[in-house]
Amino acid sequence: MDITVLSVFENRCLVNGTWLSTSQSLEVKNPLDNSVITEVPVLSEDVIHQVIIDAQIAQKKWKDVAPNDRSRILRQWFDLVMQKQDELATIMTVEQGKPLKEAKGEIAYAASYIEWFSEEAKRGYGDIIPAQANSEILVFKEAIGVCAAITPWNFPAAMITRKVAPALAAGCSIIVKPASETPLTALAIAKLAEQAGIPAGVFNVVTGSSTAIGRIFTESPIIKKLSFTGSTEIGAKLMAQSASTVKKLSLELGGNAPVIVFNSANLDLAVQGVMDTKFRNAGQTCVCANRIYVQSGIYDTFVEKLKTKVEELKVGNGLNENTDIGPLINRKAILKVEEHIADALSKGAVLVTGKPQNLDGNWCTPTLVKDVTQNMLCAKEETFGPFAPIFKFENEQDAIAMSNDTEFGLASYVFTQEINQFIRVSRALEYGMVGVNTGLISNAAAPFGGVKSSGIGREGSKYGMDEYLEIKYVCLGNIN
Ligand code: NAP
Repeated sequence: MDITVLSVFENRCLVNGTWLSTSQSLEVKNPLDNSVITEVPVLSEDVIHQVIIDAQIAQKKWKDVAPNDRSRILRQWFDLVMQKQDELATIMTVEQGKPLKEAKGEIAYAASYIEWFSEEAKRGYGDIIPAQANSEILVFKEAIGVCAAITPWNFPAAMITRKVAPALAAGCSIIVKPASETPLTALAIAKLAEQAGIPAGVFNVVTGSSTAIGRIFTESPIIKKLSFTGSTEIGAKLMAQSASTVKKLSLELGGNAPVIVFNSANLDLAVQGVMDTKFRNAGQTCVCANRIYVQSGIYDTFVEKLKTKVEELKVGNGLNENTDIGPLINRKAILKVEEHIADALSKGAVLVTGKPQNLDGNWCTPTLVKDVTQNMLCAKEETFGPFAPIFKFENEQDAIAMSNDTEFGLASYVFTQEINQFIRVSRALEYGMVGVNTGLISNAAAPFGGVKSSGIGREGSKYGMDEYLEIKYVCLGNIN
């Protein structure tokens, strides 16, 4: 599939309303066969510094655009993204590997953030707080200013819109550096933003050296806010680098999601929930099930039912309609999955289905292993691939203790039909998000985010706007 002929295809950067290419470039590859799709610019440090200055000038005008008008422009962007859903999804599948049906789903999900925040643009309410007879306490909410975003490859569209849409709705400008593996979805989305009428300099996309761009973003006194989605390791590094400029940060970092399936669970619902959370995007999601804890009373039946479903998954080219699992993003990702499987089997886990041996290219067979224990690598680290490890537990306390035994705290899942158990366990789980009797929790209306080493801040929902707003307190005195 030649995506370069698509109307939304773009391989230049959007800087202050100009589409820029450079002589030095980065190759963008198709993970299906590692063929080169195109190249994108390696912008110089001087250009990045200039983008920041231009974004500051643009932001001063954008914040004064009436919220209703900002809302209308965002709505227009939403409409264009949905009109071009098929083209955008095709670009995503080719550069990222996920099946086309999932890529279409991600475009709709990404667009839903633009729609949601187009509406929130009108609701930057402040407060009037009663305090003393002779004064009035006023609270204004104001755009924080110039923002920057650094995003990962696993959701090349949604991780961008859930930062850019609230920033623009709040009256901020933003500069996005997408992952080097998947810049084409970001550039195509930016092209539609420009067509929607987002003014020059308000939304910029830059590509190049992540280290250099990250350093310039974090050290810039003009950039007031950095929103990062990616690994905990890089998130912590950016947080340290941001210290000198005391920047506001949102960090959406790694996960190690537990799924707890109790004896009381509706088994078919639980099996489907695990399939949804474990194998979407070939297991390359931050909220994907990493550890599946199953109570002893239903353990054998659950494993058998899950085995049947896992064996139905079709691995192949994401552009084929019936593909469930595309290639992983690169060879490094494959090696990590293989390491986790080999470690589990060497420490006594039992292979239920799948192929633990090496395959060529970026292919990975969905693999199910049972009798996994807390001392295995897959209990401690995010696997980020189609490998499902099943652990057996006896009682609720043990399941909660094992689930919380991690530095991460992003998503968690519980399957139970007992109402008191769902409340008890939801309260006890040290996670930013708990899915009960579902494996799909992402929604633009919900506050997405983690605790512990999984990050700081929330994206989506009414809380997502606050990340791009400052609170100003005005004291009106001597009014009597
Ligand atoms: P990553 O290696 O941390 O990369 C993420 C982004 O950071 C990319 O744009 C990358 O650019 C950039 N980057 C890398 N090194 C940098 C540096 N020194 N300074 C500035 N930027 C730098 O993560 P990944 O492997 O792409 O993504 C997978 C991780 O993201 C997983 O841990 C997953 O759980 C997490 N994730 C979290 C969420 C969430 O909402 N919590 C959502 C999705 C993914 P280059 O591509 O150019 O290197």
